[in-house]
Amino acid sequence: MSDKKWVYLFNEVDQAEEYAGDWDGVRGLLGGKGANLGDMTRAGVPVPPGLTITTEACNAFQVTRQFPDGMWQQVLDALKVVEEQAGKKFGDPQKPLLVSCRSGAKFSMPGMMDTVLNIGMNDEVAKGLARESGDERFVQDSYRRLVHMLGTVVMGIDDELFEAPLDAQKRQKGYKSDAEMTAADWAAVTEAYKQVVLEQKGFEFPQDPYKQLELAVKAVFDSWDSKRAIDYRRRESIPDDLGTAVNIQTMVFGNMGGDSGTGVAFTRDPQTGENVMFGDYLMNAQGEDVVAGIRNTSKISGLEDELPEVYEQFFDITERLENHYKDMQDVEFTIEHGKLWMLQTRNGKRSAKAAVKVAHDMVMEGLIDKKTAINRVTPDQIDQMLHPHFSHEGVEAAKKEGRFFAKGVNASPGAAVGQIYFDADKVEKMHKEENQDVIMVRPFTKPDDVHGMLAAKGILTSEGGATSHAAVVARQFGVPCVVGASDINIDVANRRMTRDGVTVHEGDWISLDGTTGEVFIGKMGMTTPDLTEQKELMTLLDWADEVARLQVWANADYPTDAQRAREYGAKGIGLCRTEHMFFDVERLPDVQRMIMNAEGTQRMLNSIELLEAALASGRLEGRGLTEEDKVSLRAEIDTEKTRLQESPKAQAYFGALEKILPLQRNDFYGLFEAMTGLPVIIRLIDPPLHEFLPSLEDLLTEVATLKAKGITEGLAEKEKMLEVVQGLHESNPMMGLRGIRLGIVYPDIMKMQVRAIFEAACDAKLNGFDPHPEIMIPLTGHVNELKAVQPTLIQIAKDVMAEKGVQVNYKFGTMIEIPRACMTAGEIAADAEFFSFGTNDLTQMGFGYSRDDAERSFLGVYVDKGILKKNPFQQLDRDGIGRLMQIAVREGRQVRPDLEIGICGEHGGDPSSIEFCHMIGNNYVSCSPFRVPLARLAAAQAALKHG
Ligand code: PEP
Ligand code: MG
Repeated sequence: MSDKKWVYLFNEVDQAEEYAGDWDGVRGLLGGKGANLGDMTRAGVPVPPGLTITTEACNAFQVTRQFPDGMWQQVLDALKVVEEQAGKKFGDPQKPLLVSCRSGAKFSMPGMMDTVLNIGMNDEVAKGLARESGDERFVQDSYRRLVHMLGTVVMGIDDELFEAPLDAQKRQKGYKSDAEMTAADWAAVTEAYKQVVLEQKGFEFPQDPYKQLELAVKAVFDSWDSKRAIDYRRRESIPDDLGTAVNIQTMVFGNMGGDSGTGVAFTRDPQTGENVMFGDYLMNAQGEDVVAGIRNTSKISGLEDELPEVYEQFFDITERLENHYKDMQDVEFTIEHGKLWMLQTRNGKRSAKAAVKVAHDMVMEGLIDKKTAINRVTPDQIDQMLHPHFSHEGVEAAKKEGRFFAKGVNASPGAAVGQIYFDADKVEKMHKEENQDVIMVRPFTKPDDVHGMLAAKGILTSEGGATSHAAVVARQFGVPCVVGASDINIDVANRRMTRDGVTVHEGDWISLDGTTGEVFIGKMGMTTPDLTEQKELMTLLDWADEVARLQVWANADYPTDAQRAREYGAKGIGLCRTEHMFFDVERLPDVQRMIMNAEGTQRMLNSIELLEAALASGRLEGRGLTEEDKVSLRAEIDTEKTRLQESPKAQAYFGALEKILPLQRNDFYGLFEAMTGLPVIIRLIDPPLHEFLPSLEDLLTEVATLKAKGITEGLAEKEKMLEVVQGLHESNPMMGLRGIRLGIVYPDIMKMQVRAIFEAACDAKLNGFDPHPEIMIPLTGHVNELKAVQPTLIQIAKDVMAEKGVQVNYKFGTMIEIPRACMTAGEIAADAEFFSFGTNDLTQMGFGYSRDDAERSFLGVYVDKGILKKNPFQQLDRDGIGRLMQIAVREGRQVRPDLEIGICGEHGGDPSSIEFCHMIGNNYVSCSPFRVPLARLAAAQAALKHG
């Protein structure tokens, strides 16, 4: 027979520790519950005596479906010791020992596996126990619970078959609740239950206590592989091979009369984190009565009056437990005839607010260090604390009332309640003029919807994914947003949306939860927190900054965003998308004028450039120029220049640029002011130009309508616009004329921007601020692109500083968002002083998935089927896109060791992606201002984990 130890008494935890090596090993061997019961016993806490069968036994059982050699004998031997410790005997009617049999894995899997209580009860024991306790009703109630639990859990009989006899008994007696049942009633129910067992299984309910125990242990082992346990493990990433331990423990009863009771308590308030005991108890009751809410429970403080000595002992024990585990404890206790027993202790689940307060306070109390405190809070919890949210109860109630409407991608966290409108103008109007709380509903959004998005409390779209326009802009502004709710049919023309036959009309109220992606019909109450008022959180984040190596910067376009980012602890601006400013209603006409005249003007500029180049080189079309040729070339250049000067197109083009320049200068000045002393990365124009113009479809319709109605007014302009839009049309604009390509084809736009940036920086410096502009060129894929654009821009910077008579510190760098840029990062780093990973585009181009459409069409299916673990637009794909980044970091730094490296794609606010950025040696991550606090925590956690 094997001499392996399969069973540990609660007071043998030292032996378990010796065998397992450390406490983590003990938890693996005895499960979390068993380890803590042993640990409490060792600490002298009154724990009902018991034993634990190891997870190793469970794993052996899973292979053979038999108890391993020697295990059962060890259980019987240990039970003898438990009998002595309890002063009772298993199966002895004179002084009967009843036990519970509970699962307990290394990681808590609440409610996922089986439990059987009151094992050891049979006809004879029931009589003896009734004599001993003098409480026949309690005994019969306990007995029927055992038959019920063994019947369902162990024998697999349908629960409903046990409900029927109980209902029949109550109906016959006219009872409303179980509380009215008498001893005789329970005895009758027990008999009926036994009958159910006989009918269903063909054998009598086992009277042998050891048989009951054996069946219960097997059932707990089996429950490790129940469907619900397997599903839970998948979701929580708990390995299948851990197995569950089984705890066999002396039953103690809180329903033995007026000097008995039971309760659950937290050592601190799990909602607020206040350091006050929090919990409920009930005299003369069983544990499940407290949880089930059948009877009104008393606040734990009441125990102090009712049983002062017990309360004092309880308080003392819980304080010791908290000091021992150095965390807030969630305990279960029972008082049997005035004696206190602790049945369980574990780290208590808590709200986000409580998590922060408890971690903070425990550092202040000297219980834990700052590093431990940082790891006690999750980035998600910080996120929850900063956005308005619906209460859990509110959401549950709305679901019960059938007000759930749809679910989409949770694109921007927080809750919003408002009246719905289907276009940006109306949204803005109802907000501005009617002072309404509005929610913008669109199939998808475009840059010219931004004014509506800014006015909206929330945004809902039926298309697009986590990096769609709606999602990016919403997160940037902290507007709660749900995108890609593809079950909704949005009928903009008729101003309504429908799902499953339910229709919501314009002006109706909805409640939208950007944290979960859920949408409800009607209004729901919510709460809005304020970071600066949350002193404990601010302190915790300061501690996080002390350990983090990665800095956290923010994506911010406007001075107000920058201001907020700074308040939230951002150490710089990692991305200012300059084009967002172009959409301002007052600027858009000039921007459109610029675009409409860009091509014609550029053609003239290009031909002058060609002629000048020929003159400079002395060669044209492969042959040398004579003096005569040169004279005529000079004349031609002069003519071309005059033509350019007089050209209405060129005048419109340069006129528009001249009007936009001071506006951009103002924007940038505000950013430098808000971020004085800190770096501000300003990205030059990135999107394809057609995005600033009306859509092709709209223009075609408008022109056709004007013609059909015979209206000439405005027709010529529309036709001209249509011609330009058709000229700019590309089948795949995201891969088309945008970013640095625009800088090459239409250089004057970027030149204007760089001049505006440096004029603003110089002015700011002259006014006593400390600007640090970093100019970012988007979409570089080949170093020659950078070589074609950057020198001219650097020259403009120098010219402006010379004109203004002041120098500022500046950098020129590029986004790395094309796979080829990663693979040639060494070459690019020779010219770029910084890299910023644009992981939205890098993911799009690395995977070949459209960032606008993939989530709507197939990405959800991919994630559901497990083809991809996560949506790569939300969480960085380390194996593929991450490797590209790693190559870029390594090769870039080989060429330029002090290369500044950051990330400004949406992944910059995702904890897993932040961890990865730490691992590959980024200097910073940049995310929307609202995510800055959670990113600070994630950066610190990454540093603690990886050094
Ligand atoms: C990116 O591609 O990751 C990025 C930040 O740029 P945008 O989202 O503006 O394309
Ligand atoms: Mg990009």
